[in-house]
Amino acid sequence: MIQLKNFINGEFLNPIQNQWLDNYNPSNGSVYGQLPNSCLKDVNFAYEAAKKAFESWSNTPIEKRSAILLKIASLIDDNLDRFAEAESKDNGKPISVAKRLDVPRAASNFRFFGHAITQFQSESHETKSEKTINYTLRHPLGVVGCISPWNLPLYLLTWKIAPALAAGNCVIAKPSEITPYTAFLLGEICNKAGLPKGVLNIIHGKGANAGQAIIEHVHIKAISFTGGTETGKIIARTAAPMFKKLSLELGGKNPNIIFADCDYEKMLISTVKSSFSNQGQICLCGSRIFVEASIFDRFKTDFIKCVSKLIVGPPSNKSTQIGALVSKAHYEKVLSFIDRVGSDGSKLLYGGKRVHVKDHEGGYYLTPTIVQVESNSCQLNQEEIFGPVVTIMPFESESKVLEMANDVKYGLSATVWTNNLKRSLFFSEHLECGIVWVNTWMQRDLRTPFGGVKSSGLGREGGFEILRFFTETKNICINYK
Ligand code: NAD
Repeated sequence: MIQLKNFINGEFLNPIQNQWLDNYNPSNGSVYGQLPNSCLKDVNFAYEAAKKAFESWSNTPIEKRSAILLKIASLIDDNLDRFAEAESKDNGKPISVAKRLDVPRAASNFRFFGHAITQFQSESHETKSEKTINYTLRHPLGVVGCISPWNLPLYLLTWKIAPALAAGNCVIAKPSEITPYTAFLLGEICNKAGLPKGVLNIIHGKGANAGQAIIEHVHIKAISFTGGTETGKIIARTAAPMFKKLSLELGGKNPNIIFADCDYEKMLISTVKSSFSNQGQICLCGSRIFVEASIFDRFKTDFIKCVSKLIVGPPSNKSTQIGALVSKAHYEKVLSFIDRVGSDGSKLLYGGKRVHVKDHEGGYYLTPTIVQVESNSCQLNQEEIFGPVVTIMPFESESKVLEMANDVKYGLSATVWTNNLKRSLFFSEHLECGIVWVNTWMQRDLRTPFGGVKSSGLGREGGFEILRFFTETKNICINYK
């Protein structure tokens, strides 16, 4: 049994009340470890450590902060196999995905913000006629909270921690209680890299206890949260009256719009990925596929053919393309959506079945699932499933598909496949979301703003946007007459 601990003030500690949660391996449904079920007392203890560390960390020269972040990045690279195995075991994702995507991206997050902070500037504005010069200072906020979900555990946790630390803040982080393992390993790496004690504290436990204690803490200045829209609402309700800075990256139900004039082969390969990567458990997955009517039948046949070749299997197998879903509860939620197919005129085209994997009988495996729907207003198109389930439907006109793409409460990302420049510019402008991909999917440049509109969130991460979030701006006006 692996017993994970909280990382507070550079030390690995048991939860103060000595309460623990089971940690499951979704590939076979077994309990393989325990994690702290932390409470308010643990958060308060971490806060004291972070507060004490802040004075020194916020005054540490940028070059030194940057060097420590770069060191963390290279230590993550050095431990690629260890991190990837832990991530795959905890989350059920294929080991190949953890090695290719999750862990390298966690290292990139530290490397990127280690460099970005050295280029982060403030502005000055001179008004000659008035003989004034204004300049802007950007101070770190103090102690901040970073709360992350289970789908890309280390990738998303470090996407928050790295900029917060780079900007000179001290952090209390809470990874998802469903996938805590790699966050635990990160503590060890931070000590090795020479991150001073108390600068980063990682608390494990349930959202309603440890998470809620972080967002309610009077002196934690900002909350950077990624997770579900309903949790986002709770966080906003709690933190907004306390005037905390809030960054909320929430759910999505992203359209993938395919026009007949696209580069068909490229679109097909990418659409398989955007539908089912990470078992469809990526907030950016294109779960509503709209296909121009003239190529709908061709697409349907080819898409089913490609998807049927995807290998569902144990995450530890190198050849596996679709691993296990993250937990029993999530598996059952996804299956409950599949059970509704047919009740509203929708038709199961492929998949929708539990997969029994030899020697992994208790695992949460599901065939990738394609459903043809009649209307965008059905539940399957309106609610976030967050699993290996996509819907497809034909469209006749640009105006109709734009209307359907936007007719959903979410607004995270969208993909458009077309070789018509005017059309791609028109859709890029009118799609209601924070990110549009044209003729590609999930190509990420870490300098770009990342986030959603409507129920997909508030604020932007990435590049200088998140460094602005993690700093308080002060303007100074000097009259030099
Ligand atoms: P979740 O909202 O259940 O949990 C996310 C985190 O919040 C966990 O660490 C959890 O413990 C914590 N939490 C729960 N209740 C809390 C509370 N009251 N106070 C403080 N913290 C609390 O989400 P999940 O199921 O882990 O993740 C899946 C969701 O995340 C999906 O909706 C997905 O779309 C979304 N997501 C969004 C993005 C994005 O960038 N927009 C990226 C990844 C995942």
